[in-house]
Amino acid sequence: MKRREIFAGNWKMYTTHAEAMDLARGIIGGMGNMGTREVVLFPPSLHVRDVVNLCKGTPVSVGVQNMYFEKEGAFTGEISPAMVKDAGARFCLIGHSERRHVFGETDGQVNKKVLAGLEWGLEPMVCVGELLEERESGRGESVVRSQIEGAFVGLAGHRMKTIVIAYEPVWAIGTGKVATPEMAEAMHCVIRDVLAGLFGGEIAGSTPILYGGSVKPDNIKGLFGMANIDGVLVGGASLKAPSFLDIVRVG
Ligand code: PEP
Repeated sequence: MKRREIFAGNWKMYTTHAEAMDLARGIIGGMGNMGTREVVLFPPSLHVRDVVNLCKGTPVSVGVQNMYFEKEGAFTGEISPAMVKDAGARFCLIGHSERRHVFGETDGQVNKKVLAGLEWGLEPMVCVGELLEERESGRGESVVRSQIEGAFVGLAGHRMKTIVIAYEPVWAIGTGKVATPEMAEAMHCVIRDVLAGLFGGEIAGSTPILYGGSVKPDNIKGLFGMANIDGVLVGGASLKAPSFLDIVRVG
């Protein structure tokens, strides 16, 4: 089954406003003919509206790295899905491992954010992935299974149409230790199996699943060559236009 191919850049808490504009311009300028490949940028939220404006009329989409699930209220420091929509963003990254492990975000919160994102017409990119000790103790697969099940509680199958999943083993994020293509492919198959159990084979077969974790221009080929890897979510290597573009091009 032909699925969407998505190449996403998570800029994390990097870039001044000027740097973000330069980076977005560099990426847009170097896109050339990338065919039907989708490119999504996740700048820090303060820069989102301006990056959205730069990307208008280009094949590049924009998302936020996180948001709260309420529409508005006394939630100091948070941004709402309504604000994200108003800023013109299309995607929302949800449950990134840094949200889960630095800020203690739970599967329950991830689920509420997924539902809120859909409610506001955003496209959630839902991140899952196991810790090193979970993999080493043989629990990697069950952790990822329960993260997927937890993220989609209460979701009707037809709402999966705009969901993207990113498998990001925590031990591979920002560490330079990339999963082998075979390791990533095996977990992507596990994720499709969970989706099949929850929503049926058609949705399992059509949901894009990206790999993330130390993706670089020199390892993209093997990863993207796997049957169930539909693109990548890139952190460090997305902060320089040439390396991000090399990944998009090679992939
Ligand atoms: C990420 O931030 O989602 C990520 C995968 O980071 P890196 O590519 O730096 O490992």
